[in-house]
Amino acid sequence: MGLDEDALEYHRTEPPGKLEIATTKPTNTQRDLQLAYSPGVAAPCLEIDENSADAYEYTAKGNMVGVVSNGTAVLGLGDIGAQASKPVMEGKGVLFKRFADIDVFDVELDEHDTQAFIDAVAAMEPTFGGINLEDISAPECFVMEEQLRERMDIPVFHDDQHGTAIISGAALLNAAEISGKSLEDMRIVFSGAGASAIATARFYVSLGAKKENILMCDSSGIITEERAEAGDVNEYKRQFARDVPEGDLADAMDDADVFVGLSIGGIVSQEMVRSMNENPVIFAMANPDPEITYEDAKSARDDTVIMGTGRSDYPNQVNNVLGFPFIFRGALDVRATDINEEMKRAAAEALAELARKDVPDEVVKAYGDQPLQFGPEYIIPKPVDPRVLFEVAPAVAEAAMESGAARAELDVDEYVETLEA
Ligand code: NAP
Ligand code: MG
Repeated sequence: MGLDEDALEYHRTEPPGKLEIATTKPTNTQRDLQLAYSPGVAAPCLEIDENSADAYEYTAKGNMVGVVSNGTAVLGLGDIGAQASKPVMEGKGVLFKRFADIDVFDVELDEHDTQAFIDAVAAMEPTFGGINLEDISAPECFVMEEQLRERMDIPVFHDDQHGTAIISGAALLNAAEISGKSLEDMRIVFSGAGASAIATARFYVSLGAKKENILMCDSSGIITEERAEAGDVNEYKRQFARDVPEGDLADAMDDADVFVGLSIGGIVSQEMVRSMNENPVIFAMANPDPEITYEDAKSARDDTVIMGTGRSDYPNQVNNVLGFPFIFRGALDVRATDINEEMKRAAAEALAELARKDVPDEVVKAYGDQPLQFGPEYIIPKPVDPRVLFEVAPAVAEAAMESGAARAELDVDEYVETLEA
């Protein structure tokens, strides 16, 4: 059977879908039921009524993330609507559970109006310890996340923006180390100016790249000040507009150190790779087909090409699952009010550092015994590496405490031990 038939069969098998609710307390006796529900349940209600933070003591809030979408940018399928997005949101719930033991309610909102969507999500705050916005189209996704972060006292994180930014940011830190270049000197070209590209460019600046060294291209070419002044680009693209002559992606890539592809497959030629600076970094992350294939990029030149893609069948897979489960784990465990810039940087740095450590045999075995050692072919950890949890979640929790986003303090060494147990 092909992948599609297998996937339909997988989802259709009784019970349909991939998730169910489980109880965590005894429910056998009449007494148990009096505690779980009426009349006993009034006691925790009253405690929370007195002190709303007690919701973390008496309810599942602190381990519960809402994966919320309106279905406007689902995978590469476009605006397929809220109902059709549900398998993806349930899938995200599976990953949260599998990698970080976080429970998810997937919430598909049939709402295209930006303000109505924001109001609906904001009203869900009592239920959740955090909100993962998912598969919402740009530029509305920027407004939604900005306003919800402002309005809500729990983390709101649009994974399509920041997941990519953080994982590829970790890869960039290590690529800079390997190629002997410093982030602040690197000339970086973006192909794409959508949800993931804008957030990634912003995050690279947060990691030390210079905004004036970034050139961003959308489907009409380089985003120039002239285009911005002509009102040809939205306010998010405008932030990366440069005072340079009009040009296309090939012009932009000439002499660049880093190419970041978050656009569409197959638009970069070997010629364009050859026009880049020595030892170029190429993150061609369009899915399922990268902007240029691994083979074509590598064979375009004789020096070291550091290549990453979104694909699992090539080295350096930029996979969001390296981020969101562990970032939320760390954030939830300190009852964070936000996932702020410090926490995101801490996650990227923890991933970058982990890739420099020796890889355990079990991980090497899971990847067909190909050698995994820090270098051009291994700049970010593998998604199944169990150490990612123990490194990223504590780094995020610590950054939350240091930056004032934590409502609960924890001892980081003890925390690592509980995660490992
Ligand atoms: P998006 O918001 O729809 O943005 C797509 C961007 O690509 C738009 O800015 C669009 O330009 C631009 N584009 C389209 N054709 C282009 C061309 N010929 N040359 C240059 N730019 C072009 O989508 P997104 O969510 O950011 O995702 C973009 C891509 O990255 C997708 O393929 C997605 O699968 C991939 N992605 C991969 C990862 C990963 O590997 N971890 C994570 C996130 C996203 P206009 O603005 O002019 O329309
Ligand atoms: Mg997504």
